[in-house]
Amino acid sequence: MVAIQMVDLKRQYAHIKQEVDSAIQNVIDNTAFINGPDVAAFGNELAQYLGVKHVIPCANGTDALQIALMALGLKPGDEVITPSFTYIATVEVVALLNLQPIFVDVDMDTMTMNIDSLKAAITPKTKAIIPVHLYGQSAHMEPLLAIAKEHQIPVVEDNAQAIGGSYTFSDGTTKMNGSMGTIGCTSFFPSKNLGCYGDGGAIFTNDDALAEELKMIANHGQKVRYYHERVGCNSRLDTIQAAVLRIKLKHLDRYNNARRSAADFYDTAFANHPNIKTPFRAAYTKHVFHQYTIQLHQVDRDALIQYLAVHKIPSMIYYPVSSHEQKMLANFGGANFKLPTTDALNKCVLSLPIHSELSQEELTFITETVLNGIKAQQ
Ligand SMILES: *Cc1c(COP(=O)(O)O)cnc(C)c1O
Repeated sequence: MVAIQMVDLKRQYAHIKQEVDSAIQNVIDNTAFINGPDVAAFGNELAQYLGVKHVIPCANGTDALQIALMALGLKPGDEVITPSFTYIATVEVVALLNLQPIFVDVDMDTMTMNIDSLKAAITPKTKAIIPVHLYGQSAHMEPLLAIAKEHQIPVVEDNAQAIGGSYTFSDGTTKMNGSMGTIGCTSFFPSKNLGCYGDGGAIFTNDDALAEELKMIANHGQKVRYYHERVGCNSRLDTIQAAVLRIKLKHLDRYNNARRSAADFYDTAFANHPNIKTPFRAAYTKHVFHQYTIQLHQVDRDALIQYLAVHKIPSMIYYPVSSHEQKMLANFGGANFKLPTTDALNKCVLSLPIHSELSQEELTFITETVLNGIKAQQ
């Protein structure tokens, strides 16, 4: 058995090596490094896949979020509602733009934005809501979008962890994650469900005027070369990355299904265990398991991590410190927010290896070792 990884990109590459190598070579042969034809082609293919009108490729997922907020015309001090239980990038861009992050709690089950907390957090100064489709499961978008609509607040979906997943509304319509809000954002960081071989990101919208604005911001605030209408940034997806992504997009559903099968295996092995709560799968979402994150009860988590490490099984805490408690946000009053579910989750979550290449043998070894590790504590 090869060493188990949280994410095994080497094995995934082995299956698509010829395709990828020739696509990269093609970019080099054409020296089409910046804005080569693969960038636009990938944008169109992704738009088609997501069922969204516009895809604006950019340099990474953090830029995608920043550019999205810049396009909404917010003013310093405007309030932006986000979960604290997320990767820091979601919140960092809010602070970077001198907007005020308003942290709301998450559900214990889904670990995504709690709708009652969202309702309670809305004020006349709320100018955006950023739901995060955490670990591969979409936030509860139907009630969230209804609240946003009622108050006319734009919604920016952080879809860095759930591309290829979807949400089904009560009328039966299903939409892809990232296509439901005013703007959707994603990351193509190598370990994401759709990852490239470096940094990358993209922004989605169905709004023509917003699409123009997003494109302009990502391109130094210019529509016409050398005529700069507003302060923007320089955020491009490299052609080499777009070429890789065009190939991997064709395999995305298969990759996500492999992740879901691995999650099924874990669920079965851990079913009804008194110390393990397996990831809750909300009926309204297709979970694409960017992470397989269990909640541990009455288990010494650090000791279990150690036990797994001794058996060469990696595991991770996503995330050990929640955003509102980061030093970075002290000046934004982060510590003043009281988020009991977020605090409880921080202490009990543990993410196990999950990726598109896990074998039954590896899954058996991981689940047996987790169960033995917990038993050893009792
Ligand atoms: C990865 C990630 C980002 C940032 O993406 P980068 O490409 O690394 O900048 C933002 N939000 C969430 C939830 C993420 O997981």
